[in-house]
Amino acid sequence: MEKLVSLCKRKGFIFQSSSIYGGVNGCWDFGPLGVELKRNLKEHWWYRFVLSRDDMVGLDASILMHPRVWEASGHIEQFHDILVDCKECKKRFREDHLEQDSCPECGGELSEPRAFNSMLKTKMGVSEETGVETYLRPETCQSIFVDFKDVCTSTRVKIPFGIAQMGKSFRNEVNPRNFIFRSREFEQMEIEFFCREEEEELWFDRWKDDIWQWYLDIGIREEKLRWFEHPKETLAHYSKRTIDVEYEYPFGWGELQGLANRGAYDLTQHSQFSGKDLSYFDADLKERYFPSVIEPSAGADRTVLAVLCDAYAEETVKEEQRVIMRFHPQLAPIKAAILPLVKKDGLAEIAGDLEKKWRSFFTTYYDQAGAIGRRYRRMDEIGTPFCICVDYETKENDTVTVRERDSMEQVRMPVSEVPAYILKQCSIRPVCC
Ligand code: ATP
Repeated sequence: MEKLVSLCKRKGFIFQSSSIYGGVNGCWDFGPLGVELKRNLKEHWWYRFVLSRDDMVGLDASILMHPRVWEASGHIEQFHDILVDCKECKKRFREDHLEQDSCPECGGELSEPRAFNSMLKTKMGVSEETGVETYLRPETCQSIFVDFKDVCTSTRVKIPFGIAQMGKSFRNEVNPRNFIFRSREFEQMEIEFFCREEEEELWFDRWKDDIWQWYLDIGIREEKLRWFEHPKETLAHYSKRTIDVEYEYPFGWGELQGLANRGAYDLTQHSQFSGKDLSYFDADLKERYFPSVIEPSAGADRTVLAVLCDAYAEETVKEEQRVIMRFHPQLAPIKAAILPLVKKDGLAEIAGDLEKKWRSFFTTYYDQAGAIGRRYRRMDEIGTPFCICVDYETKENDTVTVRERDSMEQVRMPVSEVPAYILKQCSIRPVCC
């Protein structure tokens, strides 16, 4: 984990937030490579679960919502962590994490447990006195329920269908830790899938298969994944059933995504609290009802962390060590590096021109500094799946070599065939070329 955190900082994937001021606990910044990785991941998710399906639509709602939303959702009453303080070292712990934390290290006596609401408060309005107190949303899904009617009437969706949303959520975590696994500001990718009550188990099972497959399709090794079924006694107040996909991080198994059957809880609650009827009229049944909701709820940051952990490898090649990030080509921040074998004899100019031309098809990187072998290693370390080398033969017959990151095999191909070759393997959407 230490090696990975250091690579992330050194190469520009992830930085500590506000580090020049000493840092902010639980907040992270995605650097130049990290932002591309995360964008690719989110695009992959959006394409898979929204655009390529005919039973899903999207939403991008505001982070700040009416304070009553959080009363209706149960967050004001229920969104609590139980805290204990160490009387000796004054450190604060989540009671349900005490075992994993193996603490307090000082062996001090613990205080009585007490509840702590994890929502971050803020004030909307121009003055301290008249401002309205509300919260930064602790999950993205509530706006999906609140906007349910608007989505239904503005589109032609018919049950069964789902609404997806990705965006920032905030939780005042007691102990943010394990790099970006548990932070105070993070991104979620959530789906609320509405169906008839008698079909809720069917849809639960279908979503279970779909989300599992997605992790495999973004390149996560299956042996690093498992399901965890929440026992009935520990289910959240809204849930009829919850199972989590867990990933085996270097620090142990951790939740990547939850899949919950929320029943009709949320739409019923918001109807009561707002006084607006959020029930659904089923034209086929000629009947009005509150649909059941199946919720696959994933964290973008935790998935990025799983992708980083899964991709990291060290190898010895011809007695030389190489660090390699084996990102799935569709997620890799840079798809291809364009490298002149040497700077002289016009090779740099040819490579530079190709790089500019190919930029519009996929993310590229130009590098002419140092021996070619070292440039390949630099690209391996940031997970670039292809290195395209412009050499003397390029001048003669308009061909280049394309080196593949994992196998290190090189194939020679005409310059004109390169874009289609790269796109075929790196594009998130199918390409027709
Ligand atoms: P945990 O038990 O780890 O605190 P949770 O069960 O409270 O998580 P959910 O409310 O189900 O999490 O949120 C859905 C997803 O959002 C989680 O599976 C996770 O990927 C992500 N998530 C939740 N809290 C955080 C956090 N503090 N930092 C990063 N991601 C988070």
